[in-house]
Amino acid sequence: MLDFGKGDGLVPVVVQDNQTLEVLMLGYMNEEAWEKTQQEKRVTFYSRSKNRLWTKGEESGNFLDLVSYHVDCDQDTLLLKVVPAGPTCHTGARSCFQTEYNQNFILALEGIVQKRYDIPSETSYVNSLRNKGINKIAQKVGEEAVETVIAALAETEHDFINESSDLLFHLLVLIREKGLDLNTLAKNLESRHQ
Ligand code: AMP
Ligand code: ZN
Ligand code: ZN
Ligand code: ZN
Repeated sequence: MLDFGKGDGLVPVVVQDNQTLEVLMLGYMNEEAWEKTQQEKRVTFYSRSKNRLWTKGEESGNFLDLVSYHVDCDQDTLLLKVVPAGPTCHTGARSCFQTEYNQNFILALEGIVQKRYDIPSETSYVNSLRNKGINKIAQKVGEEAVETVIAALAETEHDFINESSDLLFHLLVLIREKGLDLNTLAKNLESRHQ
C-alpha cells in the first residue's frame, strides 16, 4: 500500500516510457489522483500550481496511458510505466528531461519497427520486408552479418558503424517476424549470467 501520510499528503511520481524506459516527467499525486489514475488507466496528478487534479493531456491530448506501476522500498514514491500519446513536455519535447540525443533509441526503434510491421503501407521498408516473408528477412540478416564481418576486418570505423547498424536493424525486424522482442532476449542473456 502506498503511504500518503508522510508530509503533505502528496507522493512524487516518476513517469517512464514503457517502450524506451526514458524518464518522461515527475509529478505529484494525492490519494484521489492515484485512485483516478488506476481506475482510468490514464495518469492524473495533483497539480501544486493549479491546486486541483490534473489529467496530463487534458488540453493537449498528450495523455499518459498506464501500463504498470511500482511502489518504492518504503512505499512513499511511485514509478509508472506508460504509453505516451505524444510529447510529454509542454515545450513539445518527448521528455521533460530531454537529452541531446535519445540514448534509448534502439528500444525506440524496436517500437517503431513493431508499429510499421503491423500497419500495411506502400512506403514502409519494414512493411515491405514483412510482405517478402521470413526467408528474405533472414537472408538480409545474413548479408548484413557478412558485411559487418568484412567491415570489422578491413574497412574504416565508419563502415563498421554503418554495417553493424544495418545488422541490428534487420535483426530487430527478424525478431518481430518471429513474434519475439528484445526484452525476451535480454531476459535470456541475464539468466545465463547467473
Ligand atoms: P496538458 O495536460 O498536456 O494538456 O497540458 C496542460 C497544461 O499543463 C500546460 O499548459 C502546462 O501548463 C502544464 N503541463 C503540461 N505538461 C507538463 C509537464 N510535462 N510538466 C509540467 N507541466 C506541464
Ligand atoms: Zn521511498
Ligand atoms: Zn516539461
Ligand atoms: Zn549493409
